[in-house]
Amino acid sequence: MTEQKKLTTASGAPVADNQNSWTAGSRGPTLIQDIHLIEKLAHFNRERIPERVVHAKGAGAYGYLEVTNDVTKWTKAKFLSERGLRTPLFIRFSTVAGEKGAADTERDPRGFAVKFYTEEGNYDLVGNNTPVFFIRDAIKFPDFIHTQKRNPATNCKDPNAVWDFWSLSPESLHQVTILFSDRGIPATYRHMNGYGSHTFKWTNADGESFWVKYHFKTEQGIKNLTAEDAQRIAGVDPDYATRDLYASIEEGNFPSWRLYVQIMPLEDANTYRFDPFDVTKVWSHKDYPLIEVGKMVLDRNPKNYFAEVEQAAFSPGNFVPGISASPDKMLQGRLFAYADAHRYRLGGNYQLLPVNAAKQAAVNNYQRDGFMRFDDNGGGSVNYEPNSFNGPAESPEDAHPSFEVSGYADSVAYDSNDHYTQAGDLYRLMSADEKERLINNIVAAMKPVNKDIQERQIEHFAKADPEYGERVAKGLGLSLNVK
Ligand code: NDP
Repeated sequence: MTEQKKLTTASGAPVADNQNSWTAGSRGPTLIQDIHLIEKLAHFNRERIPERVVHAKGAGAYGYLEVTNDVTKWTKAKFLSERGLRTPLFIRFSTVAGEKGAADTERDPRGFAVKFYTEEGNYDLVGNNTPVFFIRDAIKFPDFIHTQKRNPATNCKDPNAVWDFWSLSPESLHQVTILFSDRGIPATYRHMNGYGSHTFKWTNADGESFWVKYHFKTEQGIKNLTAEDAQRIAGVDPDYATRDLYASIEEGNFPSWRLYVQIMPLEDANTYRFDPFDVTKVWSHKDYPLIEVGKMVLDRNPKNYFAEVEQAAFSPGNFVPGISASPDKMLQGRLFAYADAHRYRLGGNYQLLPVNAAKQAAVNNYQRDGFMRFDDNGGGSVNYEPNSFNGPAESPEDAHPSFEVSGYADSVAYDSNDHYTQAGDLYRLMSADEKERLINNIVAAMKPVNKDIQERQIEHFAKADPEYGERVAKGLGLSLNVK
């Protein structure tokens, strides 16, 4: 047996008694000079940090990506440059709307956030288990999330707010259809696909660029829960998916996904039948087939949940040479919002925390000081640029590609008002049983909603597919009257 360590205060002084506080006489009152007691109570009061405003409930694991295909004609990213190359990674899965104690089996998209610790810095692909999103401009995000959270008066979830917003934001229809389909409640985090959702840009060593979308396909197979099973499990074991991921990895049953991309030549973006940067739409697999990139395996659990999962901080703005942003308006908002959230939750030095720190790349810059600067803060090295003292130097060869812009600056909506074709395509590809469950799920969710909101939403379903609208209307005891 290893030698038992002495219990100490946070400053390292031995603690003689951790069961009885210092009191004046055996009855008390308690003495303020019991510094150990004060430190213990005060630290306990400070154990909570702000929970994430979205994606609060999550689970994480470490693993690796192994490259299985040559993709160098599209990107010069070093971690994708050779078959067989392995890059360590950390992933965090989550639900979106629920608070930190919410049940894992809620009907909700699942977060699918991957941090690749590459030799060129950390690359974060902060995706979901769905290829699209409810809205396509970040300016609508706070309003959308308010409708997913609690009513300001009752502090309860509010179906009227949810469907009011969706029915007034018909770009949500495609994602709503996925959400109420079988895939709206994945059986576990292991049994779902992941998608980068946004369009990104890849650039090769010759400076040629391409638009790209990412798909992680589960090798465990897609498995979902029925609404009834999900509700039952939420009562019996709200941490069901968290427990499943941890147990599976502990047992050596390592979950894996195949990573694929769709590649679009840059110029196609000008002529494709819809705006390929609109995150409410997918690129047809027929137009842009999936190309394998690699295999992702999760093989190690975190040792400490708070240190490694709660403090994990992903940002879609963490790119590496060869990968950069697209003009997707939702992505552009996220480039700001993620790092901003981390600065608020964890402080300005959050990237020094072990789970967030680069593991294979050296970090050299002129950032200094700030709360919780717990490394050597650059020691005595030069802290300004330009300088004559051999400080870290810029590398123009790593610049992201420049691009042309044109048009007038203005508040402009996306061109397309076709929110219906792809939602309808999805409805039509479902089997009769899947359609039946989709309709039942929607009808159950819309039952408590005001009639005018129900009617407005039914029109959207009907525009996607008349049968889709008719069946929801029938389930709600309404007749369909598409304008
Ligand atoms: P395809 O037939 O080439 O693709 C259909 C894809 O639909 C499948 O590959 C599968 O994606 C996905 N899918 C199958 N069943 C369901 C379901 N019940 N819920 C959600 N997704 C499902 O046709 P298209 O590329 O033209 O897409 C047709 C529709 O499929 C789209 O409107 C979209 O709603 C949906 N879809 C398309 C994706 C894409 O990237 N093109 C991705 C996911 C969904 P997967 O293999 O990723 O599981």
